[in-house]
Amino acid sequence: MSQPESRLVTLAPGLRRLRADNPSPMTFTGTNTYLLGTKRLAVIDPGPADPAHIDAILRALEPGQEIAHIFVTHAHVDHSPGARLLQEQCGAPIYAYGSAYSGLSRVMTRRRAQGLDLGMDGGVDRMFYPDHPLKTGDVIEEEDWSLEAHHTPGHLPNHMCFLWREPMALFTGDHIMGWATSMIAPPEGDWKPYQVALKRIAKRTDLTCGYAGHGEPIEDVSARAQTLHVHRRMRARQVDIALCDGPVTPMAFARATYNDTPEVLIPAAACNVLAYLLWLEEEKLIVAQGPLGLETVFERLVPPEHWLRDDLVKRLERLQAQL
Ligand SMILES: [Zn+2]
Repeated sequence: MSQPESRLVTLAPGLRRLRADNPSPMTFTGTNTYLLGTKRLAVIDPGPADPAHIDAILRALEPGQEIAHIFVTHAHVDHSPGARLLQEQCGAPIYAYGSAYSGLSRVMTRRRAQGLDLGMDGGVDRMFYPDHPLKTGDVIEEEDWSLEAHHTPGHLPNHMCFLWREPMALFTGDHIMGWATSMIAPPEGDWKPYQVALKRIAKRTDLTCGYAGHGEPIEDVSARAQTLHVHRRMRARQVDIALCDGPVTPMAFARATYNDTPEVLIPAAACNVLAYLLWLEEEKLIVAQGPLGLETVFERLVPPEHWLRDDLVKRLERLQAQL
């Protein structure tokens, strides 16, 4: 176990990163906690419920500095439970979109009510709620920094990115990371809003770098968003082609297709496949046989000779182009 101080680095004037000691295949080298400002600081993502990490955040304060605001990108257990622990020590208010499920789409609200449960909600911090709910465009500022909130659901319904306005850098949480793609595990994860939010960032030409929830800074965050968007469309196309040959199950497809993915991450990959299949089902192009899960069989609603015919391909491309 490394000493907390050795995980504290300065990334830019007025911005430091303290990495939590929770490395894993899902969290990479650990959760990134950001300390923004030089006097009245913002702490972004205090991380897991780890008192040693909270102590390290407090020890990182220099003379004349105080924690004035706590921001949370989303209510996963590796990002948000530390917020209340930190608040107990410093009294600062907590800002976020809302509780974990507060931004759930109508489609996934219905799926969840119908019993869709992949068992991934163990990673959801159900106890989390902010003192101040934020919406897109809300700005919180101090003398030497200014953050603008952007709701970016898809990885989790309450996910937000925070725009640091002077360098136009984006705190991206788990929405955009440099080291990996994001997990989209329904019903918390939702393929369409994820792609829409990604596209919105990809289209911005005014952004500089990204500071993700895990891993190193992203040099050009819009370019990375575009790459991730195209990558997911490419995966979607692979699913379309597999459906041409016959029924598809998320787990079998992930095993056959995600050749570079470590075995331990195959279920996460299968969640992403299921997220896309559910979207196809919403569009009435396929149907699920039986209760939804990673082993569910999905079948075309149109005959095989029509599945990749020009009109259907065009329809899929038109639908995907909206995202
Ligand atoms: Zn997450």
